[in-house]
Amino acid sequence: MINVSHLTKKYNRFTANNNMSFMVNDGEIAVLAGPNGAGKSTAIKCIAGLLRFEGEIEICGHNNKSLEAKRLLGYVPEIPAPFELLTVWEHMEFIARAYKLENWQERAEELIRRMELHDKKDKMGKELSKGMQQKISICCALLIEPKVVLFDEPFVGLDPHAIKELKAMLSELRDKGVTILISTHMLDSVEEFWDKLLIMMHGRIEAERERSAVEKSGENLEELFFKITEKEKSEG
Ligand code: ADP
Repeated sequence: MINVSHLTKKYNRFTANNNMSFMVNDGEIAVLAGPNGAGKSTAIKCIAGLLRFEGEIEICGHNNKSLEAKRLLGYVPEIPAPFELLTVWEHMEFIARAYKLENWQERAEELIRRMELHDKKDKMGKELSKGMQQKISICCALLIEPKVVLFDEPFVGLDPHAIKELKAMLSELRDKGVTILISTHMLDSVEEFWDKLLIMMHGRIEAERERSAVEKSGENLEELFFKITEKEKSEG
């Protein structure tokens, strides 16, 4: 579970996240949607415990900066940052040691196979394309069997096979009760599987919808998205 309460993040005097509060339950896929610059990455980095912020964030009941929270949390950044001199397989070993994982090898093999990195196992981080580096990030985040996973724009830069495989993995994680938060500026990339939608603009959550409610009401989400994100243009 993710519980974000009154999250405010300022970069000097600029407010990138402005008093955001929301919850994502176990076994739920929430989507943080909004145009470029809305504050999605900043919110995800705050939840991942990488930035200082005002407010409170809990991961499965633990303060997000605690060791307990970090053990439960997987994070796939928008811009992959693999270790240049570690091979794909050494990334798996590194994560396994850092998190003191046991019997991780079979799981690592499967993740690498599903992300089609198997024939690149002995290639170093710096020898891989951006898409392949992104696949390593996904393997590293999922190797620890997280209870909560944050994906920042996960579909940008992945090839169609990896997108299909990642979508299948997301459904499997949800079925296991994992909490998932995905940021995207493209609503249609997540339309098949979201449970909760949070539409952001200028650092605020401007609309929150549950899938069940939208299915009942028949509300057009694309219209809602553009109404919120293009408000100023139409007013101006
Ligand atoms: P999104 O992920 O929705 O595209 P970001 O969270 O990356 O948005 O950025 C939100 C706002 O914060 C943008 O106006 C961006 O320029 C600003 N911003 C992001 N990172 C920094 C930083 N390190 N320093 C100053 N401003 C930043």
